[in-house]
Amino acid sequence: MVDEYFLFLHRDLPRQGPGSSQSTHTVIDLLPQKNYCDILDIGCGPGMQTMDLSRRFPESRITALDKYNIFLNQLEDSCLDLGIENVITTQGDMMSLPFRPESFDMIWSEGAIYIIGFEEGLKEWRRFLRKDGYLVVSELSWLTAARPPLIQAYWDDTYPDMQDIYENIGMIERAGYNLRGLYVIPPEDWDNDYYLPLLENLKKEQGRPLTEDQMTCLELEFLEIQMHNKFSRYFSYVFYVMEKA
Ligand code: SAH
Repeated sequence: MVDEYFLFLHRDLPRQGPGSSQSTHTVIDLLPQKNYCDILDIGCGPGMQTMDLSRRFPESRITALDKYNIFLNQLEDSCLDLGIENVITTQGDMMSLPFRPESFDMIWSEGAIYIIGFEEGLKEWRRFLRKDGYLVVSELSWLTAARPPLIQAYWDDTYPDMQDIYENIGMIERAGYNLRGLYVIPPEDWDNDYYLPLLENLKKEQGRPLTEDQMTCLELEFLEIQMHNKFSRYFSYVFYVMEKA
């Protein structure tokens, strides 16, 4: 659950999940070169990847959707600063997208499909793609079959639906897509634009008077970062590049 204190801890970050401009560009290079007139970025957050999409597809109309205006405002300010004019922000819910069927040539979503659920998101968003449209998402995935009990237990508790890459590929095919590319983000994508600036915010909270709920929230944030530091070989966000079949 995202509450006010969580949003406060996550204020003013360049990203709201692991990733990097470099990875976004690498994944764009996996796509066939054609006209993607209408692109939707779901759960855009502060929109680092939205702006990368805007640079790579300057002729496209890019709709950036998020549930929270605080992030949309951050993206709008960045677009103004950078003179980006092909991005439109929309406040909305990924569970019931406010668009007509077949409105987009590409749907992009980094670090956000877990909110609706990977399988559910694949099914739910498919109808918004035009014929031969592309869906590109990054999803937290196991990288190995064998993993230490501690990290298994952590993610079983925190994100029980997490699957390995092969299980996700099975879901992709069953949901009516052909897999066209895969990319595992490197460990530094978790730190540089996400955990390190987040840690700065978290450290400011230490020693402050906090409610029990706030303390729990803060501890969970530290725990997640520790788990990644220790066990990054076993899991990461994986980009799945899918063509609507
Ligand atoms: N893609 C961004 C943000 C990822 S974090 C990045 O990589 O930096 C997930 C994002 O989903 C957050 O910005 C959060 O506000 C947004 N979100 C959460 N619930 C949502 C919902 N129901 N519908 C749309 N966006 C949602």
